[in-house]
Amino acid sequence: MSSLDGMRTRAVHGGRQDLGDLGVHAPPIDLSTTYPIPDHALGGEALGAWAEGAADAASPVYARLHNPTVARFERALAELEGTDDSVAFASGMAAVTAVVQAACLMADKRHVVAVRPLYGGTDHLLVTGLLGTETSYVRADEVASAVRPDTGLVVLETPANPNLDLVDIAGVVRQAGDVPVLVDNTFATPVLQNPAAHGAAYVLHSGTKYLGGHGDVLGGVVACAARLAAPLRQVRILTGAVLHPLGGYLLHRGLATLPLRVEAAQRTAAELAARLEAHPAVLRVRYPGLNREEDVRGVLGAQLRGTGAMLAFEPAGDPNIVVGKLGLITPAVSLGSVDTLIEHPAALTHRLVGPEARQASGVPESLLRLSAGLEDVDDLWSDLDQALRAA
Ligand SMILES: *Cc1c(COP(=O)(O)O)cnc(C)c1O
Repeated sequence: MSSLDGMRTRAVHGGRQDLGDLGVHAPPIDLSTTYPIPDHALGGEALGAWAEGAADAASPVYARLHNPTVARFERALAELEGTDDSVAFASGMAAVTAVVQAACLMADKRHVVAVRPLYGGTDHLLVTGLLGTETSYVRADEVASAVRPDTGLVVLETPANPNLDLVDIAGVVRQAGDVPVLVDNTFATPVLQNPAAHGAAYVLHSGTKYLGGHGDVLGGVVACAARLAAPLRQVRILTGAVLHPLGGYLLHRGLATLPLRVEAAQRTAAELAARLEAHPAVLRVRYPGLNREEDVRGVLGAQLRGTGAMLAFEPAGDPNIVVGKLGLITPAVSLGSVDTLIEHPAALTHRLVGPEARQASGVPESLLRLSAGLEDVDDLWSDLDQALRAA
């Protein structure tokens, strides 16, 4: 199932093409906020180019316009996603916001169609209408009937947060017609899924999760065609939602080990899912491929190259007690770190979505979401098993 096609090589070498000329081995971290401009005519041309969304110009001019350390990460991520370009932001939510601003507000199309479930923050941003948009929530097979002349964006996530629902990207893209589709690829990572190859216009990552991979950097990124990247850069300059160069450095470094980390965590998640499925104190496990009949469109294999490192399950006992009894596994929101994390979506990440919308989108109240880390699987299992029995 795992056809990585040089993915590990690209992950290690991407975005490092200029290092040889610079005579360095590690990418330099450029912390300049401003750059000397002895020739103001040339500097002005550069400023004008950035303002129009250019990916490169003679001088960065000012750090809100461009940063070379961040740009290396962007080139590397675009290579892994198979897109022309990518644009990095201060966080995943800043990236979601920028796509809505570029696709809806700049195009004066203020309607969004969203397939639930989504990451709780994205869901809440769209529900509040904070950005001046109106959102219709639908199932993946209802997108065509929800699209209107003023629809600027279709939003989906697969595997979805938090219940691991699988969505056929090409099927939604067909229904969306001319409307660009944003796929949040945070759970799958570019190692397991490349949404642009299935027609997604925007591929979004919360870099905070697997890309950084060590729980110590906040960032977001959108991979897309050059013509869509330019408006995103314009938005980034205007709103100031820039990624700090140190964050750019850490995300770039994270990419080098991304395939190895995802493959290792995936093996652990698959093993835990199988053991949880057989546990008497577990009602139901959600993990791609575990119940083949749920994947009616055959997403696993054709679109998703692996089962991934995220799983969810409903304990028979109180989920809060299960979480409280754990000793090794970290009870915390976020995911994709070196250590295994667990959280209760109804209490935390999907609290603001509300009980009705959670129920309608297949997120049971007792569901626990687990992000497999890099520990020994038997140690993780002992911890889970004793907590499940205690609850
Ligand atoms: C965490 C997350 C986000 C938001 O990213 P931040 O970096 O926290 O702003 C968006 N989508 C998904 C799927 C996430 O898990």
